[in-house]
Order: sequence, then structure tokens, then C-alpha cells
Amino acid sequence: MEQIVKSLAAVVSGLVKTQEPMSRHTSFQIGGPADLYLQPQTTTELISALTLLKEKGIPYFLLGRGTNILVGDGGYRGAVIGLAGDFMQFSYEGTIVRSGAAVPLPRLAGNACKREMSGLEFATGIPGSVGGALFMNAGAHGRSVGDILVDAEILDCAALSLHTFRASDLMLSYRTSGIAEGSVVCFARFALSPGKMEDIERKRREFTDFRRLRQPRQPSAGSIFKNPPQDAAGRLIEAAGLKGRRSGGAKISEIHANFIVNCGNATATDVLTLIEWAKEAVDRKFGISLALEIQVLGD
Ligand SMILES: Cc1cc2nc3c(=O)[nH]c(=O)nc-3n(C[C@H](O)[C@H](O)[C@H](O)COP(=O)(O)OP(=O)(O)OC[C@H]3O[C@@H](n4cnc5c(N)ncnc54)[C@H](O)[C@@H]3O)c2cc1C
Repeated sequence: MEQIVKSLAAVVSGLVKTQEPMSRHTSFQIGGPADLYLQPQTTTELISALTLLKEKGIPYFLLGRGTNILVGDGGYRGAVIGLAGDFMQFSYEGTIVRSGAAVPLPRLAGNACKREMSGLEFATGIPGSVGGALFMNAGAHGRSVGDILVDAEILDCAALSLHTFRASDLMLSYRTSGIAEGSVVCFARFALSPGKMEDIERKRREFTDFRRLRQPRQPSAGSIFKNPPQDAAGRLIEAAGLKGRRSGGAKISEIHANFIVNCGNATATDVLTLIEWAKEAVDRKFGISLALEIQVLGD
């Protein structure tokens, strides 16, 4: 381990740590330690780090802002990569914004509003990064990231080379994309349109108020399950009688039954128990098999 840390530190100018608790990097505030945690600052650093990890046979996981992830209590046996530096920058080319993958969506949406650019209002309250949002095709209020994507620069996990993919190449659909696991979204370009600041701000306020009323404030990972066709996972879980159900420090939110919240000392096991209960209850009552929206990582 000492040797690989030295080698990684020689090619990565950002953080290189061992035994990093993932609870520090996830919105659930849950998760044991990753063997390695590193923050490459440039594409070159990222490629060098991935080359080293591959040579040593060390698995890796690309973490965005950790807002759609449940990391196991035992942590992750491998390297967790969080992008920083160049990947936190964005710039405009006319009405197109080119963003690094690590930029938080709410920051991008806020900046677009200041510049009187419309198109990102729906993303105001989605707490993920641009890269994570593209991987998941995140969306809200009837819009998703794929609707405004022009193209994305993605590091191919096999050849470790950067390619530009048009939106239509990425097979974006409801909370999923065709981006191969292990490939890294590095940059993305979004098409915006000129708008009036007051109109953009009004929409943003509307969306924020909507969330304030309908979503819990405690730590969570957003919606746990995808909505089945023509229905809402939250409605089904509530109708199955599970709203407010607790397991250890985790609870099915009383405000929105598709959210599981960390009441202070929840473990991943607590959350997984509630996930199983909700799945079983909905299956038993409605014959519907709920599919996870969140990603589960590690032991
Ligand atoms: C309070 C709350 C509200 C939410 N509301 C919404 C909502 O309205 N709509 C919605 O769609 N989601 C919502 N989410 C979920 C979440 O914000 C989105 O799924 C978001 O897109 C995840 O981004 P992230 O950066 O946090 O990704 P992570 O959770 O870190 O990772 C998610 C997946 O993306 C992959 N990934 C991350 N970055 C990259 C990259 N650069 N390249 C390749 N793969 C990458 C990871 O490997 C992982 O598989 C909410 C979450 C919370 C906590």
C-alpha cells in the first residue's frame, strides 16, 4: 500500500489518502473507509492515476458529490476517485456552457441565471455534480440533463483515451445512460438560451419551494427507487404502510416515502434493511418490483 500511495502521489497533485471514511463524501453521511482516495486535478493526472491502478489491478470507483450513493459500512476495497482542479471549472461559448464534471449542478444553474441564460433551472435543487448527473441522466420537473446536453468528453475506461460523444450517442433515458462503468465523464457542454433574469429566478424559486415542502432536510441520497411506469415509488411505499418505518438510525421519511433519511447514526445496514422491507411490501401489495435508483458500493 505504501508503494502505491507513493506512486500515486508522484502523478496526482491533489489529495492522495488511505482509509478515507466515505461518510465524509456522501450526502447520506454513511459509509466505511475506502482503501485509497485520490483527487486528480487534470486529465493527464487522471490518466496517469488510472494507468497505475490498472497496472496494480486495483479496482476504482468514480465518485461525484456522493448524492446518489450508499457506501457499505465496511467501506470500499479499492480506490475512490473524486475529480477536482480543472474539473471544477466552467466557461461559456456564446449560449453554450462547457463544464468540468466535478462542478455541482446547483452552482452551474445559479451562474447561468446570473448570466441570464435559461435551460438549467430544473437542476437548481439537484445536488449532484455534472459528471454524476450525466451518468444518471438526472432530472426534475419534467426535464433532464440529456435534454440540454450537446456533447461530453469521456475518458474511455479500456483505452484510457478521451473521446467526445454527442448526446445522441449516450443512450440517455430515465435515470440511466449508456456510459460504461469505469469510464469517466470529464467535461460536458450544455445548450442554454438567452432569458430574462426575473423569469429564470421565478422558476428557480418555484422549484426550490416545491422541494422545501415535499422533501426531507435530513441527510439522504434523494429518491431511493426509480418510479415505475405510470406510478410513483413514494406513493406505493406509503400505500404499503411503510412511511415513518425505522431501522436503527435510518427512517423512511414521513415527508416523502421514497426518501430514506439518516436520523443521526444510521448505518448502511439500516438503510439496506429498509430498502428490503419497502421492496417486499410493495411487491406483496401491488405485485410491482421496485428498482433501485441509488448505487450501492462496497462491503
Ligand atoms: C436531497 C437530494 C435531492 C435529489 N434530487 C434529485 C432529483 O430531483 N433528480 C435526480 O435525478 N436526482 C436527484 N438526486 C440524486 C442525485 O443528486 C443525482 O443522481 C446526481 O446526478 C448524482 O450526482 P453525484 O455527482 O452526486 O453522483 P454520485 O452519487 O457520486 O455517483 C452516482 C453515479 O455516477 C457515477 N459518476 C459520478 N461522477 C462521474 C463521472 N465524472 N464520470 C463517470 N461516472 C460518474 C458514479 O460512479 C455513480 O455510479 C437527489 C439527491 C439528494 C441527496
